[in-house]
Amino acid sequence: MSLIGKQRIVIGMYDGFGMDYFNASPLPAFRSMARDGFFKPVSAVFPTVTNANNASICCGAWPKDHGITGNSYFNERTGEADYMESADFIRIPTVIQRAAERGVKSALLTCKVKTIHLLGRGAAIAVAAEAPPPEFVALYGKPADIYSREINYWLWRVAADILRRRRDIGLLYVHTTDYPMHMWAPAAEESKEHMETLDGLLAEARAGAPDAAFLLTADHGMNYKRRCWDLFKACRESGAEVRFALSAEKDRYVKHHRTFGGAAWVWLKSPADEERVAHALLDLKGIEAVLPRRAAAEKFGLMAERIGELAVFGDAETVFGELETPMEELEPSYRSHGSLHESRIPLIIYNSSVPLPPAEAFSANLDLTRHIVQ
Ligand SMILES: [Zn+2]
Repeated sequence: MSLIGKQRIVIGMYDGFGMDYFNASPLPAFRSMARDGFFKPVSAVFPTVTNANNASICCGAWPKDHGITGNSYFNERTGEADYMESADFIRIPTVIQRAAERGVKSALLTCKVKTIHLLGRGAAIAVAAEAPPPEFVALYGKPADIYSREINYWLWRVAADILRRRRDIGLLYVHTTDYPMHMWAPAAEESKEHMETLDGLLAEARAGAPDAAFLLTADHGMNYKRRCWDLFKACRESGAEVRFALSAEKDRYVKHHRTFGGAAWVWLKSPADEERVAHALLDLKGIEAVLPRRAAAEKFGLMAERIGELAVFGDAETVFGELETPMEELEPSYRSHGSLHESRIPLIIYNSSVPLPPAEAFSANLDLTRHIVQ
């Protein structure tokens, strides 16, 4: 049974909101929704990067079905990495498109322009806080810089106001930025202020739309990282040269984490190299697993042709990216995601007018929309 058209729906995708952030602050609005509705800690999709998870939540499906397996992919034709941030890469309709097919208008509110390109098709309103339309600036003021926590406050203030004033909008998809999580651990004062402010804005949104269902989750958590490997250079150094290595996290927003992430794909020069390269990778400190393409696709619900010939899994302290040297020790303040260690996130459904399936049906963030927003 679908909520679309039955009641207004607010999908809150809180970027980087791991369970440790949920547990570190009182968050009375989140907690009362969890208590009175449905709450379960669930898993993010692997790799724990934004686009793969945002597409999964927005489609209610695994990457094997929608096709977004990371922020970037390797274009085998050009031999270059391309950003996977166009709606053309998504092979099934998003909840926004499904709503439009039924005559229900949606608003996509996000901090980053890339999310509009990826998920904005079919939305009646599509606003990126980093480049807002003039009429939004006139109404709500100029948002803070994209590399700030205040930009998330602007975004949720807009969401709460649209809920109050635009009753014709039947679905809101609100996607914050994880910059604050990259900058501050859950116990930091700045982080608590960020989460408490977002909690207050959630309470305001609920007060302005008592009829609406709120569906809340995240794309991944965040951890401190100690080291980064450039797998192309590291493999070359150990005599097991590869064709290409790519951090699944690589995107345009380089400032806060240089787009290093805890998962990588490797393409081989020849299929015969597979075992030798896998061994060379497993010899590197901080790599906890290497899987061949088919096995990785099967295990994590990925689209095989859009991942590498080898999937490389970092431990909680290890990330991958492009470096001047094979390995770099990172600053102690460095935080990022992408690995299996950033998988635990909250899932909350509040005020749904359709009955929910049993709790066992919810194991991943994409289950937020899979069962009741089809
Ligand atoms: Zn993210």
